[in-house]
Amino acid sequence: MNIMKAKKFDVVIIGAGITGLLLQFKLLEIGCRVLLIEKNAVLAKGPSTNCEGILHRGVYHGYAIDNIEEAISVARKCNYGYEQILSKYPQVVEEMLLETVAIIQDKTNTSKATERWDKAGVWHETISYEHAQRILPEAKLSEDFGFFKAKEKSINTRLLLHLIQNQIKGSSNAEILNGVTDIKFIDKNSLAAIMANGEYEIVESDFVVYASGKGTKAIFEREHKMSLPIKIFKAHLLTTSRLCKNNIYCLDEGQVTIFHHSDKTIVGMTKYNKECTGDDIEIDPEAVDELLSKTSNYLDIKGAYIKPYWCHKVDYGQNGLYHSLDTQLHEPIPNHFVALPGKLTEAPWICDHLVREIFTRMNRSDIAQRPCDKFFETLKSKV
Ligand SMILES: Cc1cc2nc3c(=O)[nH]c(=O)nc-3n(C[C@H](O)[C@H](O)[C@H](O)COP(=O)(O)OP(=O)(O)OC[C@H]3O[C@@H](n4cnc5c(N)ncnc54)[C@H](O)[C@@H]3O)c2cc1C
Repeated sequence: MNIMKAKKFDVVIIGAGITGLLLQFKLLEIGCRVLLIEKNAVLAKGPSTNCEGILHRGVYHGYAIDNIEEAISVARKCNYGYEQILSKYPQVVEEMLLETVAIIQDKTNTSKATERWDKAGVWHETISYEHAQRILPEAKLSEDFGFFKAKEKSINTRLLLHLIQNQIKGSSNAEILNGVTDIKFIDKNSLAAIMANGEYEIVESDFVVYASGKGTKAIFEREHKMSLPIKIFKAHLLTTSRLCKNNIYCLDEGQVTIFHHSDKTIVGMTKYNKECTGDDIEIDPEAVDELLSKTSNYLDIKGAYIKPYWCHKVDYGQNGLYHSLDTQLHEPIPNHFVALPGKLTEAPWICDHLVREIFTRMNRSDIAQRPCDKFFETLKSKV
C-alpha cells in the first residue's frame, strides 16, 4: 500500500475569505507554519467579495441592536477593525473625500442614538436638514428625519484581499491549497484534503480554525457529528450605476444602505430575515422589489440599470432574526476554533483574538513568561 507522508503545520485554516486570509497572515507574523484550505479554485468567492463593502465604524450596530451592551460591544469591535484596516490598507478606501450621511427616520430617536454612540466611541456629527440636503442634493429627505455625518466608508474588498494574499505569498511558512472539494478528518490533529481529481494530501496540525462561513455547519455535522447553532440567512443586494454623490446609511430596521464604489453603487438592506440552508441559489423577486421600492423612497431610480444578486449571512448562536450578532470565538472541540465574524470589519478583531490564544497555547520557550502567564501553574492557595 502506498502510504502518503503527512505534511506538518502548526495551524490549518479552512476557508479563504477575509478571516482565513487575514488570520493566515497574522499567524505567519508570529512564526507559525500555516496551511489554508479553500474549496473553490478562486479565493474569497463568498460574502467577503459579495457584500456591500462598507467599512463599519459602529453607527448602525451601535444604534440598531436592541440590547445596549451588545450594541456597544459590536460597535467597538467594528471600530477596532475599521482603525486597523484603514491604517494598514488605506488604499482600499474607494474615495477618501466621499461623505456618509446616516439617517434616522424619526428624529425623536436621535438621543437614543447619540447616547449609545458616545458610550461606544462611535464618531458622529449631528447635522441639520439643510446641511444634509447640501451633501445629498439628489435625495428625497424629510424634515422629520434625524441626520448625522458618519465615518463609514466604502472599500474595495477585492483589493483588500489581494493585498493580504500578497503579504502571505512572501512567506515560506505558508501554503494555500485551493480546489479542495472534500475534507475528511482522520483524527483531531490530522485530515485528508481531497481534490476534484481524487488526489489528496494528508496534513497534521496542532490547531484547526474553521473560517469557512456557511460551510462550517456542514463540516461539523459530517466530520465531528456535532450540530453547531449556526444560522444562515440569504440577503439581497443591488448593483447599479452610480446613483448619487455621497453615501446614504439609513439606520432603521428594513431600510437601505446606498454606498458607492467608484462609478457603481451597491444598495443593501439593514435586515436579513430569510433563514435558509445555504444551498439555494435563486434570486427572490420579492426581495428585489422590496429593495427597489425602499431605494426609490430616497432616490429617483427610474431608468437606472440595476443588477440584483444575493449573499449569505452567517451567525453563530443568533437568537433574534436579523440584527448582526456580537461576534465571538468558539471552541467546540479543544484546539478547534470557529471564527465567523458577522461583519468583514470585525475580521481583524477575531483574528487578533485567535493569534493571542494560539500563541499562548504554543508556549514557545524563547521569550520569558510573564508572571500572569504562570499564575495558574504557581497558584498554591487562596488568600
Ligand atoms: C448582504 C450582506 C452584506 C454585507 N455587507 C457587509 C459590509 O458592508 N461590511 C462588512 O463589514 N460586512 C458585511 N457583511 C458581512 C461579511 O460579508 C462577512 O461577515 C464576512 O465576509 C465573512 O468573512 P469570512 O471570511 O468569515 O467568510 P466567507 O467570506 O464566507 O469565506 C468563507 C470561505 O470558506 C470557504 N469554504 C466554505 N466551506 C468550505 C469547505 N468545506 N472547505 C474549504 N473551504 C470552504 C468558502 O468557499 C469561502 O471562501 C455582509 C453580509 C451580507 C450577507
